[in-house]
Amino acid sequence: MALLDRFARPLRSLRISVTDRCNLRCQYCMPEPDYVWLPRESLLTFEEMCALVDAFTSCGVDRVRLTGGEPLLRRDLPVLIESLASRPGIADLALTTNGVLLAQQASALRAAGLHRITVSLDTLQADRFHRLTRMKELSSVLAGIDAAVGAGFTALKLDTVLIRGVNDDEIVALLEYASGIGAELRFIEYMDVGGATRWTGGAVVSRREMLDRIAAHYGAVLPIAEQSSAPADRFLLPDGTTFGIISSTTEPFCASCDRSRLTADGVWLLCLYASTGTDLRRPLRAGATREELGRLIQTIWSMRADRGAEERLGMDRETTLIPIRTLKRDAHLEMHTRGG
Ligand code: SAM
Repeated sequence: MALLDRFARPLRSLRISVTDRCNLRCQYCMPEPDYVWLPRESLLTFEEMCALVDAFTSCGVDRVRLTGGEPLLRRDLPVLIESLASRPGIADLALTTNGVLLAQQASALRAAGLHRITVSLDTLQADRFHRLTRMKELSSVLAGIDAAVGAGFTALKLDTVLIRGVNDDEIVALLEYASGIGAELRFIEYMDVGGATRWTGGAVVSRREMLDRIAAHYGAVLPIAEQSSAPADRFLLPDGTTFGIISSTTEPFCASCDRSRLTADGVWLLCLYASTGTDLRRPLRAGATREELGRLIQTIWSMRADRGAEERLGMDRETTLIPIRTLKRDAHLEMHTRGG
């Protein structure tokens, strides 16, 4: 019997931020040059992450995604992956990365048993990449994508946050690039999450507008009907290309959200927009057993009533943005701490 929350949503998917650190400074996520990082001693060890994953899988989680910050900055990540991949309860083990370090690590990730990789790619223009991220790393990212394909990661996904006036003139170029390498592109609506201190409503390119612009170039865009709790709705172009749209901002999908997040220091968040979570590191380090942690997880999930993105639809979003001074006081409010 699946564990359900107050809106009958099952607990199935866990996103683990393995580090809050990142080697890019994307303007829509970590625009500041410097950040306060979580203290090292507070970070979960791989053994602790696996112990928590065991408690989560005992409650129904069967999909785990490693994210961050930039997960490839976490030393010896393949060791964690190997350990997670050996757990029969995990049907899907995925990683989201900015790709900068992927060329060096793709083979080791594959050998460790990682199932799937998603690479964030917002532009194909080197100077724009530099302006958007503060780093001159586009060629490393593209080499990383090639290495992932070469290492045998077949279901490769590329995620693009589309921002008006920044990269929305690259819709077609990105679609063509993705289909050329056999990957599936997913456009993400720009979200007003913690860290996105430069967000404005005017910068959001809505799902509707994306579809209109893609149809104007390619012709009819057909929705692909599928039963899935994945955040992206998928579409088919006349030439057979498929792509996805994650419309968290204008058409949120809280009703089917089976995801929760674990920060690198063990705080469990029930919603990307949640301002507080449950510290699971403390009971774990105090010696709680898997059964005890599982009971805690069950109790909390069964009370879950979050609909963060839907609630924001009715708000004046420009005033819901978290000010930088508040973000500096509580790193847990940052997107890179909670795991995107
Ligand atoms: N460093 C990794 C990466 O770049 O993929 C993983 C962490 S990153 C926070 C995860 C995803 O969140 C990325 O695809 C990123 O583009 C997305 N993201 C960050 N801030 C966002 C925002 N304001 N709106 C929409 N997506 C955002």
